[in-house]
Amino acid sequence: MSETEKLYEGKAKILYATADPAILLTVYKDDATAFNAQKRGQIRGKGEINCQITAALFKWLSSKDIATHYIDSPEPNQMRVKALTIVPIEVVIRNIAAGSLCRQTGLPTGQILPSPLVEYYYKSDELGDPLLTRDRIFLLNLVTPQRLAEIEDLARKINQNLQSFFAECKITLVDFKLEFGIDAQGNLLLADEISPDTCRLWDQEKSDPRSRVMDKDRFRQDLGQVESAYQEVQRRVLEQLEQ
Ligand code: 5GP
Repeated sequence: MSETEKLYEGKAKILYATADPAILLTVYKDDATAFNAQKRGQIRGKGEINCQITAALFKWLSSKDIATHYIDSPEPNQMRVKALTIVPIEVVIRNIAAGSLCRQTGLPTGQILPSPLVEYYYKSDELGDPLLTRDRIFLLNLVTPQRLAEIEDLARKINQNLQSFFAECKITLVDFKLEFGIDAQGNLLLADEISPDTCRLWDQEKSDPRSRVMDKDRFRQDLGQVESAYQEVQRRVLEQLEQ
């Protein structure tokens, strides 16, 4: 697939314009960063793995009436997507306490939450993606109250679907981050990616807290065997979808 102008280079992906202004090309990279890019490295094969996991999950979610920006994948590490206006909010959905929730609240890692927690973070590298409140979202005019309600409903619906799907893969969906965009008709669509870079995924077949980790925490916490964990997620997801 021949790209044209580079529009944006992020930590894990590069976005190109295409001949059609309604379509963008995303190229997934092997580069990995953590802690707001203070830790940098490479995970061999990650670009292809994350692109293929995202493509598979987005196709599956669209069969559940969840609209996404995914069009197709012309190469294993490339995805053609609909051009959207991205909502500058990262939506995090948590089923089990981990990561920043534990650091900021003192909840123990692994505590099952009574119901899924939906959180909003300001998508701003300069500010370090700070946690938002509803009032701050409206103060900054990031979205209208109606749009925020729509985002929350859609995020919860995606979580319900993905939790069951990953459970069938013998994987616990601990938490994950979503991004949304709005098309020219004003429709809300799921954007960005769903992959071991953006989810916490625990192997239900392992009980040891270090060996059960199948996601970017292996890179963040120097747990080793990062590539094989990502490959195993891809294998289980694709195998489950073939059934
Ligand atoms: P936490 O707030 O605990 O650091 O992250 C919660 C979840 O959201 C984790 O699954 C994490 O991977 C994902 N997440 C939150 N922000 C980002 C981000 O900026 N980049 C990526 N790749 N994942 C994020």
